[in-house]
Amino acid sequence: MRRSRFLINTLKETPKEAVVVSHVLMMRTCMIKQLASGIYTLMPLALRSVRKIETIIREELDRAECQELSMPMVQPAELWRESGRWQAYGKELLRFKDRKENGYCLGPTHEEVITDIARREIRSYKDLPVNLYQIQNKFRDEIRPRFGLMRGREFLMKDAYSFDVDEEASSVSYQAMYDAYKRIFTRCGLNFKPVEADSGAIGGSYTHEFHVLAGSGEDEILSCNNCDYAANVERAELAAMPPAGVPADAADPVEVHTPAKKTIEDVAAFLEVAPETCVKTLVFRAGDDIVGASLMGHRELNEAVLRGRLDVAELELVTDTATFEKHGLCPGFMGPINWPKDVPLYVDEEVMGRETVVTAGNKRDYHLTGVVPARDIKPTEVLTLRSARAGDGCPRCGEGVYASYRGIEVGQVFKLGTRYSQAMNATYLDADGKEQVMVMGCYGIGVTRTMAAAIEQNHDKDGIIWPVQIAPFHVALLNLDVKDDEVNEACEAVFKGLRAAGAEVLIDDSPLRPGPKFKDADLIGLPIQVKVGSRSLKQGNIEVKVRKTGERRTVPLAGAVDEVL
Ligand code: ATP
Ligand code: MG
Ligand code: MG
Ligand code: MG
Repeated sequence: MRRSRFLINTLKETPKEAVVVSHVLMMRTCMIKQLASGIYTLMPLALRSVRKIETIIREELDRAECQELSMPMVQPAELWRESGRWQAYGKELLRFKDRKENGYCLGPTHEEVITDIARREIRSYKDLPVNLYQIQNKFRDEIRPRFGLMRGREFLMKDAYSFDVDEEASSVSYQAMYDAYKRIFTRCGLNFKPVEADSGAIGGSYTHEFHVLAGSGEDEILSCNNCDYAANVERAELAAMPPAGVPADAADPVEVHTPAKKTIEDVAAFLEVAPETCVKTLVFRAGDDIVGASLMGHRELNEAVLRGRLDVAELELVTDTATFEKHGLCPGFMGPINWPKDVPLYVDEEVMGRETVVTAGNKRDYHLTGVVPARDIKPTEVLTLRSARAGDGCPRCGEGVYASYRGIEVGQVFKLGTRYSQAMNATYLDADGKEQVMVMGCYGIGVTRTMAAAIEQNHDKDGIIWPVQIAPFHVALLNLDVKDDEVNEACEAVFKGLRAAGAEVLIDDSPLRPGPKFKDADLIGLPIQVKVGSRSLKQGNIEVKVRKTGERRTVPLAGAVDEVL
């Protein structure tokens, strides 16, 4: 490809709106163009990299015997009502009506659609297992779209769904996907870690997140320096603090051991936590009663607090924005099931209105500003409970200690159990002709986020340093004297030779001077640069530079292709 024919206008300055490196560099290299908040056009350079990530994903999923299909992005409300998510999903779900007033949404994920396919197509245990995937744009109306492709509203995702006869078979499918993910991110040339994750609002399931390690990551992950245990910080806390005398996998250790009306100190003691290093939990009072706690990524801790104070067995997690806006709650509010909705809640404006509260939690997503009408919530109590942090002992091996990393979540594998198949009646006939509910798993990879994460992890002050596997092209061939026929001829020869050998080459045949050409080549960051200029050519030489190491070699034109490959 010739630069003179390739739509790529580079920028010298850092765009004001971009705060993370991948966003800055993608804008400076003309990889993305913003159309609206969190909605981007992928320009040709970006699309080439995205296609390579897709190819790696396809090859590995095909190898794991998954089948590709393509589901509609527009999904009818009825399906979402069946699963119970039409109400529960909250404002991230973009809902709209057609001309006949029928409700629809833009797919943020496809559990409902795929479960509908499964219940119609899968009849017998002989049809199982099945794993279906697609690579498709998703739409999530994120409360704060930011960081370019890292947190967009429309973004490209690979989503896969497994169907199995039972829990055991589902574990086999889960493991196969876990292994495929390891191969995918390894082949993308990324430094990543799979970590045990908190299953959040869905609850009860088993899940791992795959994180690309980078300082700009939104998530904190902890990893043992002795064994292979790693978890995101919400999850690690639980593993680090099994309540005394209760096995770690007990269904509800908190309830068993916490009588009513405990003090915060009692709860902390019960959880075997010390207050020094802290996680903050907001507690909402109505009169003397504590009636709720904010989630902030710490469901279990909140539950402990609430159960300890209120003597309730059942708690309600409010995750849909409509409900918490109606009641003036904060996102992820948790209260007892029988919480009197007419009791006004109060929260100290000073606390609620500030980002500090939120960043004290682990998920910057649970962003209170702008969502909570502070008017009728007051006052709060901020509890300080201990969570695992770097340096704490590892609960698994009992020998190592945690090291802390920042991570970008690029993928997640999830055991869903029968959450959707039960609700939507996706059943099959077993060997005895008896009807059974299918057991499901779901598996996502953020394709565009993976590309952004690759840049977050691989760059220097001059620009991107593409991992060769997902680089838009392999070689930048710089013609330093476009007016010199000999140079032009030499460039053509190298260009053709490299292409014939299977290398993807972006030839810079623009009239720019050598200085700006070098700068652009570093900025765009293709793995190898080949420079052809009249001076060295007179000696029959060209120059080859490796972008990652900066290593340069002068090589004879005749052997250039071999030298580069
Ligand atoms: P996050 O915690 O970052 O909001 P998520 O857990 O909501 O992500 P999943 O539902 O697990 O996301 O979706 C699968 C994958 O899709 C994620 O691992 C991530 O790589 C990608 N993804 C999710 N949300 C976005 C987004 N807004 N922009 C780009 N990629 C995203
Ligand atoms: Mg999300
Ligand atoms: Mg997540
Ligand atoms: Mg996730």
